[in-house]
Amino acid sequence: MENRDAKLIEKILSLKRERNAVILAHNYQLGEVQDIADFVGDSLELSQNAARTDADVIVFCGVHFMAETASILCPDKIVLLPDINAGCPMANMITAKELKERKRELPRATVVCYINSTAEVKAESDVSCTSANAVKVIENVDSEEVLFVPDQYLGHYVSTKIDKKMFFWPGYCPTHMKIVPKHIKELRQEYPLAKVVVHPECRAEVIALADQVLSTGGMCRYARREDVSQMIVGTEVGIIHRLRKENPGKIFVPASEHAVCPNMKLINLEKVLWSLEEISPEVKVPEEISLRAKAAVDRMLEVA
Ligand code: SF4
Repeated sequence: MENRDAKLIEKILSLKRERNAVILAHNYQLGEVQDIADFVGDSLELSQNAARTDADVIVFCGVHFMAETASILCPDKIVLLPDINAGCPMANMITAKELKERKRELPRATVVCYINSTAEVKAESDVSCTSANAVKVIENVDSEEVLFVPDQYLGHYVSTKIDKKMFFWPGYCPTHMKIVPKHIKELRQEYPLAKVVVHPECRAEVIALADQVLSTGGMCRYARREDVSQMIVGTEVGIIHRLRKENPGKIFVPASEHAVCPNMKLINLEKVLWSLEEISPEVKVPEEISLRAKAAVDRMLEVA
């Protein structure tokens, strides 16, 4: 470990104790951030963790909608996002106004929003879901028609697993779009023993080539299996750090080195320290939106 890192980490850990803070990090964060977090996980695991923490301050190392979700679940806590510019382009592909208009066109449909959506969009939705529980949540919806926003690819994947009429919003993750079938085919030739595991935000043509379609949390559990010694990993490259750390001796190959989410990489050790020093930038969802959005997230957590 470099001297710079050791000093920063010492300061972060001491301030964390002083502030009674917890640091949560998404699997796509920089390795240095994952390594100082109290908990590293996918969106579902992080929201469950935020819901049950007794810390006064949550330092959320992820993107804006994740910090909003933590604020929705813990309105009395201070939720910090160490770089306020860390947004999710997919979440920003639909506004509450656009969703309201689409709802008017589909009055019989239950609205299911992917957790990768703004608090305002969650407030307009009946239930939320993550990539880990989307199939289960939508199976449990009490109607035959579902409007799914904003990720068309996750929506399409779910529609192949269940028997409901689904309408999709044309959103997508620009990072997962960078993974194309050619990458998987070439890597399969190079690593014939490897399991191909992809995220459901990937294109349908990529999903069709996979052995497993899993959330990032699911990928981490799958990698621990004894029969998995090599994995071609079809998601944002940040997860490779955790996979290698938890599974020494196994081989993990990113499906595409270009699958990097620039927003997830905005947070680093310095910014974590500054946010603990300044108790800023805070993400706070206004109560009127928060209460309605919470109903959608709570319904998901009941099913998950
Ligand atoms: S990887 Fe995609 S879905 Fe995740 S935060 Fe980045 S842009 Fe959003």
